Amino acid sequence: MSGAHTAMFRGRLLRRDDDGFEQARLAAMWNGRTTTRMPAAILLAADEHDVSAGMRLAAREGWRVSVRSGGHSWVATGVRDDALLIDLSALDAIDLDVPNRRARVQPGVEGSRLNRLLAAERLVFPTGHCPSVGIGGFLLGGGYGWNSRKLGPAALSVEAVDVVLSDGTLVHADDETHPELMWAARGAGPGFFGVVVRFHLRVYPAYDQVLRSVMVFPEEMRDEVLAWSYDVLPATSRSLEIAGKVAHSPGRERPTTTLVGVGFCADETAAEIFAPLESAPFRKHALRSVDRAPTDLAGLYAASEEFMPQGRRYAVDGVWTSASAAEILAAGREILGTVPTPESFLFWMLWGQYPTQENACWSTQGQLYFSPNSVWTAQEDDLRMELWAHSALDAFAAIDLGTQFSDANPADRPSRGMAAAQAARLEQLRATYDPDGRMMSYLTPAESTTALGRHRQTR
Ligand SMILES: Cc1cc2nc3c(=O)[nH]c(=O)nc-3n(C[C@H](O)[C@H](O)[C@H](O)COP(=O)(O)OP(=O)(O)OC[C@H]3O[C@@H](n4cnc5c(N)ncnc54)[C@H](O)[C@@H]3O)c2cc1C
Repeated sequence: MSGAHTAMFRGRLLRRDDDGFEQARLAAMWNGRTTTRMPAAILLAADEHDVSAGMRLAAREGWRVSVRSGGHSWVATGVRDDALLIDLSALDAIDLDVPNRRARVQPGVEGSRLNRLLAAERLVFPTGHCPSVGIGGFLLGGGYGWNSRKLGPAALSVEAVDVVLSDGTLVHADDETHPELMWAARGAGPGFFGVVVRFHLRVYPAYDQVLRSVMVFPEEMRDEVLAWSYDVLPATSRSLEIAGKVAHSPGRERPTTTLVGVGFCADETAAEIFAPLESAPFRKHALRSVDRAPTDLAGLYAASEEFMPQGRRYAVDGVWTSASAAEILAAGREILGTVPTPESFLFWMLWGQYPTQENACWSTQGQLYFSPNSVWTAQEDDLRMELWAHSALDAFAAIDLGTQFSDANPADRPSRGMAAAQAARLEQLRATYDPDGRMMSYLTPAESTTALGRHRQTR
């Protein structure tokens, strides 16, 4: 590491030949399926002044800049060829303002840690479902967390952000000051054109009770169960988080369909929240069921972590749709019938609609998020798994309303994470706030390093 640069930072600047560079590059990727993209240098930032100094150094060196907070991007959007990767994982401070139900949170914070601190004050925030998901990318991408049907995509609970812009200046943005920057921070995902060093969040009263019901059905009931859950959704309370999962189950030859309902009881009783689920006409045919088991966020995080362990290779994608259940099941037939490995699954996320806001670019949603998650271990299986997760979604072309930035893989399957008008406005703002294009934006097909990308090039 060059001495001049050491003095410039409280943290560390690592160039490609430095000890620790490859370790830091790999640490930026939670997914076991890593990318070969190679940054010019990695800045392990210690504070926001390092981020500003990193921006200025990048300008002098002619580097573009990419960012990593929690490193959970499925496609490692923070790891880009020849860019300066600013690693924010050490920026992990949390300040609570309990009387006003506010939290100031740095981007490297893990969602479960925020909720542990909040729980001690009888407060809560809709963080990602797995405990280790980083707040930074999660909030920028919309953020579908525990109880988001009721509390909204987490990005809509961001009241202000502190952002280092591409010229190195640190600005505070809210709905009055830099409102357009604030608008972009609520949903631009991995195309945001600054580095957020602090999020100012609105947090919520803790729930009186969290209950979880599970019903598992045999393969022959799959379409009936999924269609029923989709059609009943508008009649369910927003305090019921309800999702289906098609996956292999131990001891069964063919995949099963599981319906999970989590009730976050505060204003309504458990009986009211769970009534639709408990009146499902096919309930008695469940292979296994659990009714209203008491749990808490720690229990929910543990259940999610169990079916998404670290160390595997993952390919994840998804489409929002509001088509009829029959159309969705027809488009998804191949995916639903070919779950490729014991750990892979199709996630049937029942969402409904949440009001969009003028002060947020978050704009893409549908009644349902249909999301294949392939999970495997051997590199030689990459192409087969990636085809299942990404290419098989081509069948949704006629009913596809876009994707979640949290899962988007624009290098291998271009899709919309935002409505057209919002996307156009974002690009206008980028030209104002980042005129030299210093910040890396969404991945492009030319940056694909997957087996699927290579397969496409050779066809
Ligand atoms: C196991 C697992 C479970 C998940 N569960 C959920 C879930 O329940 N709900 C959900 O919505 N998503 C979920 N996700 C997806 C997750 O929200 C996204 O991958 C998100 O980007 C993760 O944030 P991160 O900070 O950890 O990611 P990173 O990889 O660090 O960041 C991703 C990108 O976001 C941008 N970014 C991140 N931080 C900043 C910043 N401070 N300033 C500017 N740009 C920034 C950068 O472009 C960066 O490349 C899950 C992912 C995994 C791996």
